[in-house]
Amino acid sequence: MPICKLCQEREANKKNTHYLTDAIIRTCLNLGGVNDREKGLYFALDNSNPFIDFNFQRLDELTLESTIGRKPTEDEIENAKSIPFSVDYVFCSQCEKLFTDIENPFTNNILPHFRKNDLTGHDILKEADLITIRNFFYIQIYRSAVCENILDFPEEFVEKLRTIILAKNGDTSIPLSITYLQTLGGDANYTQNYIGFTSDKNPYIIFMNDFVIQVYENTDSIKFLPFYGLNEEESFQSYINYKEEHFMFYIFDDAKRKAFLNNVIVHEKVRKTIHQYRDMFDMFWRKLFGVDAPVQQKDRYIQSLINGDENNLIKYSKDQVFNFTVKYMAVLFNVKE
Ligand SMILES: [Zn+2]
Repeated sequence: MPICKLCQEREANKKNTHYLTDAIIRTCLNLGGVNDREKGLYFALDNSNPFIDFNFQRLDELTLESTIGRKPTEDEIENAKSIPFSVDYVFCSQCEKLFTDIENPFTNNILPHFRKNDLTGHDILKEADLITIRNFFYIQIYRSAVCENILDFPEEFVEKLRTIILAKNGDTSIPLSITYLQTLGGDANYTQNYIGFTSDKNPYIIFMNDFVIQVYENTDSIKFLPFYGLNEEESFQSYINYKEEHFMFYIFDDAKRKAFLNNVIVHEKVRKTIHQYRDMFDMFWRKLFGVDAPVQQKDRYIQSLINGDENNLIKYSKDQVFNFTVKYMAVLFNVKE
């Protein structure tokens, strides 16, 4: 058995360690199964693959099909059966207990200030319990760093986090910014939020349902990243906690949350997807004519693929786009497939 990543002493005997705290992400994934029609979808905002890797929790094949609007592939069904954001045999049971000891004070004492309070009209929420808050977000960042390839932190930084967590000292020397996304209208609306990681660095970004974590290696690495409205150039530095006396959370009200999340999905995912489809169209065209497709032909192809709603694009599987393109070409040139 491998050695536990955190203590580096005991055997990593623990199965099913959530690396993002279940109490936070549960409502986004709708693990309680509150409403069958509202299922949480999540993804890694990874540059390498324009096709969204959907993962689903506790969905049967039929629900899966109605959620994504097509037949799921074998892989997607397999994914649907696995427990999301959890790992086996990475940590030991003692370290798992340490994680729980850090999580409990946060979910019991701090989380209600966000989820049970009316935050309307507040831009900022200040909290005094630095140790609880810092430790809580450090274990999210650390465990994600260990378990997710997309978060590519330098080794020394991961080691620094490891030391802080073991000491449970809530060290304030890591620049950390947390945006809280006010989510109104009941539990089902949390499924509109995202869970995932970006391949950006400084800030490294973790979407964790109604919390968005941004962390920098050190003060020298702080730089402005707009990220579709998450940060504003004039103000982003004032929301970074560093050697603070009170921990400051930046709050997006419900309307701002929706606008922001919509911006993320449309720009980050759809834009990349369109790019990929244009390339695919060029590839077909080159096979036929030896040159790239004329721009207006590409535009027309994308428009018929979008079919009135850009969000349609994220519902297609690779095979579907391929088949669509073959048919489209056949019609365009009036040939039999
Ligand atoms: Zn351990």
